[in-house]
Amino acid sequence: MAYQTVNPANNQLIKEYKPHSDADIEAALGRADALYRSGWATGDITPRLNVLRRLAELLDERAEALAKIASQEMGKLIKQSRGEVALCAQIARYYADNAPRFLAPVKYPSELGEAWVEHHPIGVLMAVEPWNFPYYQLMRVLAPNLAAGNPVIAKHASIVPHCAETFAQLVHEAGAPEGAWTNLFISSEQVAAIIADPRVQGAALTGSEKAGSAVAAQAAKHIKKATLELGGNDVFVVLDDADLAKAVEIGVQARLNNAGQVCTAAKRFILHEKIADSFLAQFSEAFSRVKIGDPLDESVGLGPLSSREALETLTKQVNEAVKNGAKLHLGGQPLEREGSFFAPTILTGIARDNPAYFEEFFGPVAQMYVVKDDDEAVRLANDSHYGLGGAVFSQDIERAKRMASRIETGMVYINWLTDTAPELPFGGVKRSGFGRELSDLGIKEFVNQKLVVVH
Ligand code: NAP
Repeated sequence: MAYQTVNPANNQLIKEYKPHSDADIEAALGRADALYRSGWATGDITPRLNVLRRLAELLDERAEALAKIASQEMGKLIKQSRGEVALCAQIARYYADNAPRFLAPVKYPSELGEAWVEHHPIGVLMAVEPWNFPYYQLMRVLAPNLAAGNPVIAKHASIVPHCAETFAQLVHEAGAPEGAWTNLFISSEQVAAIIADPRVQGAALTGSEKAGSAVAAQAAKHIKKATLELGGNDVFVVLDDADLAKAVEIGVQARLNNAGQVCTAAKRFILHEKIADSFLAQFSEAFSRVKIGDPLDESVGLGPLSSREALETLTKQVNEAVKNGAKLHLGGQPLEREGSFFAPTILTGIARDNPAYFEEFFGPVAQMYVVKDDDEAVRLANDSHYGLGGAVFSQDIERAKRMASRIETGMVYINWLTDTAPELPFGGVKRSGFGRELSDLGIKEFVNQKLVVVH
């Protein structure tokens, strides 16, 4: 795919980027591997943490410019782009502050003698990342691995090359040596060749099932570890005793944030029959009031999808859903204006044999389901190939906790949308992938947990 910046608010091409050659890849791998073999990666952690601290400062200083680049390149609302940059600075600071603790040796009581586990870097990693959080996705990989000492080769999505380049420059400016983070504009075939290279020890991918399967298969073929952060079809359960006004407000946010293009967005709303009509009426009202427009306009509540292709895919999915019996309660089509805009949409009456029942809709399309009790809500929630996040709204916290325990996903939030924070692990089960990013769990994915025993 060509690496291009196209503004999705008007579909105008801004810039094309030259792809990197195999010779560029060879040079990048050489530099990354040399760095891994140097004292910088395996020695004192302080210089690496200083890079993260400086990076956090640079992110804060340049927040406005960085936010604008993201909004113009993939359509995120400017205030959400600012929030993403601020979160990146938090992640960098979090690992600068906590990595020494996470990577400290851990004692293991044993009859065989004094025993402990040390944490060492394992070498060069390949990271493949998506466009929907064009800085945050990179930071989730960079911060823990820079702290741990693993150099990273990064392949970002082809529709966000400006963000990819800007991020790499920032890391360099923060003082990271050559090879610590290398951005490459490369093809899937070149990614496969990098994973196969003996200097590379692991692969991290965030993206679709198709890409995840290709990258994990290649990693497995060469006996290398992979982590996969894939799609989701998260539920947003509203029980009969929920604070309805709050559930509506957060539900709308959970579906429209980033124009609905979030892996953990609320995609399936599961409503207790006692509150279903009322929730739907209030939710529809809020959906129809949303101001749509240029993501750089501060007053706008819904921007464009990331690309023309994204708009075509979503349009096709909604048409197919309706053809198979779903009822269009609101919206349902692209907006008649320039740019890749899709109307806020609500689908009801989705039967299990409708393809929409199992599909992830990456855009502002909410599916509504009505259930009669908690057991039915759980059955419906778990009737999914995915298992990423989920939300349960109830004023009876014990009841909500019981439900959270029964939902087959990597994350469940009670009375809040599925969110993210540096200190909380992020990841899923089933076809949403495996492994965790962020928190102490994220930094342990690509380290050698080496046992030493003194007998
Ligand atoms: P995608 O097509 O899989 O793209 C993601 C990345 O993978 C891009 O850099 C893409 O490059 C690359 N890629 C695609 N096919 C590949 C292959 N065969 N080998 C190597 N790299 C390959 O994903 P998307 O559809 O743009 O992104 C949205 C998906 O990501 C959704 O399903 C969403 O739920 C998921 N997501 C998950 C999380 C999470 O943390 N779980 C977070 C965000 C998004 P090109 O751009 O060049 O094709």
